Amino acid sequence: EFAEVSIKDIDQVAKSSFPLCMRHLFEKLREDHHLKHGGRMQLGLFLKGVGLKLDDALAFWKAEFSQKVGAERFDKEYAYSIRHNYGREGKRTDYTPYSCQKIISSTPGVGDHHGCPYRHFSEENLRAALSRMGVNSGAMENVMDKVRNRHYQLACTLTFESIHGSSFDAGINHPNQYFSDSQKFFK
Ligand code: SF4
Repeated sequence: EFAEVSIKDIDQVAKSSFPLCMRHLFEKLREDHHLKHGGRMQLGLFLKGVGLKLDDALAFWKAEFSQKVGAERFDKEYAYSIRHNYGREGKRTDYTPYSCQKIISSTPGVGDHHGCPYRHFSEENLRAALSRMGVNSGAMENVMDKVRNRHYQLACTLTFESIHGSSFDAGINHPNQYFSDSQKFFK
C-alpha cells in the first residue's frame, strides 16, 4: 500500500520519485494541458496508486485540462473517465495501475506520450531525458547498453540506482514499485 500524496506535493514527488515513463507524461500534461487517452489512463492510474485521492485527482486534471478545453468541457468529457478509473462509474471496477510489462508492450501513436521511454523514445530523446533526470555519463552508457539489448526494465533499474546513488536488490517491474522504493530514500 502507498502513502497519500496531495496536490501540493505532486510536482516535488514527480521530480524526485516518478519513473521516466510517468515523469514524461506529467511534464507533457503540465506543458500541453492535455494528454490523449492512453496517457490519461497510464498516468491517472499511476497517480491513483501513488495515493492521490479521487477529489484531488479531479482537481489536478481539471486545473490542466481547463486551460486547454475549458472547465465545462472537462466536466462533460473527461471527469467521467477519472471517476471511472476510481471505480465510481460504470461497472465500478477498481482499476489497478499498469505494470511495466503492459506499458512496454503498448503501442503509442503520433501525439501519444504513454509507453515506456526506454522502449519507445529515440536514442537521442532518451539520452536527453536521462540526463535531465540526473543520470551521469558513466551510468548512461550502461543504461543504453541494456536498451540496445531490449532489457528495458533493467535500464530503468540502472537509472534508479544512478539517481538514488544506491544499488538496488530488486529489478523494477512496476512504476508504482519504483515510486514507493524511491520514496523510502526521502523518509
Ligand atoms: Fe516505466 Fe517500467 Fe518503463 Fe521504468 S521500465 S519507464 S517504470 S514502464
